[in-house]
Amino acid sequence: MRQEYTVKAEKIQEDINLIQNHYKNRVREISAMEGKISSLLQLKNISDELSFSFSEEDVIRVAVDRTFETFKDDSRVMLFLVAEKRYGLELVCTAMGEKAKPVIMKKGGTFERWVIKNMQSLLVKDARKDFRFSLNPDEDNEEYIAIISKPFISDGNIIGVLKVDSKKEGVFEQHELRMLDIIGEIATVAIKNARLYRKTEELAIRDSLTGLYVYRYFMDRLEAEVKRAIRSNVPFAVFMIDIDNFKGFNDKHGHVAGDLVLKNVGSILNKKYSAGDIACRYGGEEFAFVALNYNKTQAVKLAEEIREDIARAPIEVRREKITVTVSIGVAVFGVDAKFREDLLMEADKCLYRAKAEGKNRVVCAD
Ligand code: GH3
Ligand code: MG
Ligand code: MG
Repeated sequence: MRQEYTVKAEKIQEDINLIQNHYKNRVREISAMEGKISSLLQLKNISDELSFSFSEEDVIRVAVDRTFETFKDDSRVMLFLVAEKRYGLELVCTAMGEKAKPVIMKKGGTFERWVIKNMQSLLVKDARKDFRFSLNPDEDNEEYIAIISKPFISDGNIIGVLKVDSKKEGVFEQHELRMLDIIGEIATVAIKNARLYRKTEELAIRDSLTGLYVYRYFMDRLEAEVKRAIRSNVPFAVFMIDIDNFKGFNDKHGHVAGDLVLKNVGSILNKKYSAGDIACRYGGEEFAFVALNYNKTQAVKLAEEIREDIARAPIEVRREKITVTVSIGVAVFGVDAKFREDLLMEADKCLYRAKAEGKNRVVCAD
């Protein structure tokens, strides 16, 4: 009888063990599933946020910040982009905790070179034990031994590298790399879109012949400058520039040569341009130029330089070097006018006077 009870008790204990094991497994599965769901939700949020970021700066910030939130711990996140005009990486954004070491190589190091050369993602569990790399203390923070890195590839070219590193060995596994891969893929598309968006915008506001801004954009920018000047009390000047006797030039040398002249004037105005200035093709052979932070004396000097540069820059038509001249009217905001339309009218009046006084000259409001 007693033996029978013992056997039953053992059987019950066995069942309890089985159930407990089963329960533990289920808890593990549920927690793994929750982890996956949270990863997917995170990726969805990143994807949503990136698809609403239209400027490259926004895309970069969102990609780096959200990557940091995904890995947290003591990780550092770095985004390198290929500098548009030069070959080579440049660190454009980082996110890291307060105690993290700053990135030494702003142009990337050993791991970035590997990612670029192999054009594939990289997982390093412990750099000290990884035979593929020998670290260089001038380039790499040697304490950061765990690394995941993802190249941004667009149309077959590397446009950037997203990297996460940590001082803890083995914190990154395939799952972490997969997450970074997906974030990287979404961010690459977002960067591509942002660049396309900027190009399209540029096309819409640039005159195709001269590359200068179009009238509509010029008027918007001028309005903004008027508001800024009222707030800051810093003057700025507007030039109205008109080519002299251009009708005659077209009649004599042809419309194609005339177009070359317009291009030439456009490129001279572009050269005179400082940050924030606005150079615009106002109408057919009329140009407008806004020189920021210029008082009247400085503005007249700059207008004279523009006039002289144009008079001295010949274009070649059938092996003949021909020059044109321009007349320029100058008005200064805050001095000659206090509204946008009045300012343009004042500059236009001066241009008219320059024409009446014999052309090829600069006239400013008294
Ligand atoms: P003024 O010295 O008084 O300014 O005389 P003008 O001949 O320059 O002035 P007018 O306004 O009579 O003529 C402007 C000419 O500019 C007429 C037009 O054929 C020419 N023009 C306007 N847009 C273009 C263009 O896009 N290409 C070319 N080649 N010519 C243009
Ligand atoms: Mg004209
Ligand atoms: Mg003219």
